[in-house]
Amino acid sequence: MPCMLRLAIQKSGRLSEDSLNLIRECGISFVSSSLKLKTESTNFPLEILYLRDDDIPGYVADGVADIGIVGENVLVEEGKQSLTVEKLGFSKCRLSLAVPKTMEYNSIQDLNGKNIATSYPNLLKAYLQEQGVEADIHTISGSVEIAPSIGLAEAICDIVSSGSTLISNGLKEVERVFKSEAALIANEELSEEKREILEKLLFRIHAVQRARK
Ligand code: ATP
Ligand code: ZN
Repeated sequence: MPCMLRLAIQKSGRLSEDSLNLIRECGISFVSSSLKLKTESTNFPLEILYLRDDDIPGYVADGVADIGIVGENVLVEEGKQSLTVEKLGFSKCRLSLAVPKTMEYNSIQDLNGKNIATSYPNLLKAYLQEQGVEADIHTISGSVEIAPSIGLAEAICDIVSSGSTLISNGLKEVERVFKSEAALIANEELSEEKREILEKLLFRIHAVQRARK
């Protein structure tokens, strides 16, 4: 069996298309099917695994996948930033605090004692600590932006790109907690052979990035 590098990418979501495009632009061909969990390239020693984005850092850390593409927000939330090889420049977004637009807000101190809903408790906790704010963090896995309107929380901390979702839920962005983009990550104990394939892949990624500029 020839040695292959196993790449984990998001199966379906906001990272998927740009991740696949990057690989294709690297001249790496593969047949993708939404029904399959795994595909092999026909012209490069790469195998692609399609996973939920939240599972990618753990699978790469454990060596189930050798490398992966994931948002820094998920990577840092899971405490796996040491796996980072490099930032990829797409899927740019930010993790922000937002409050109902009718709430009077002067500074972050206004969040003291408040209940804040988020899917990113670790990133939020670190930020609040840094700012000297004590609040109750309420972790929920989705639909965070509706939490204030249903009385579940007084503020939220969620991913924002244009801000239109916040506005349509009657919220205003008040603080930026974390800036994120997609990152390439790698297992820390790759074999010599796999490391060489990764070097070849990085060489192509850099060429694609130069051509995009
Ligand atoms: P999964 O089903 O894989 O768990 P998900 O619903 O958790 O998917 P997505 O909404 O597809 O995740 O977002 C994946 C990643 O894309 C986020 O973690 C973030 O890094 C980035 N992202 C999220 N929202 C945006 C956005 N509006 N614009 C750009 N990038 C975004
Ligand atoms: Zn997810």
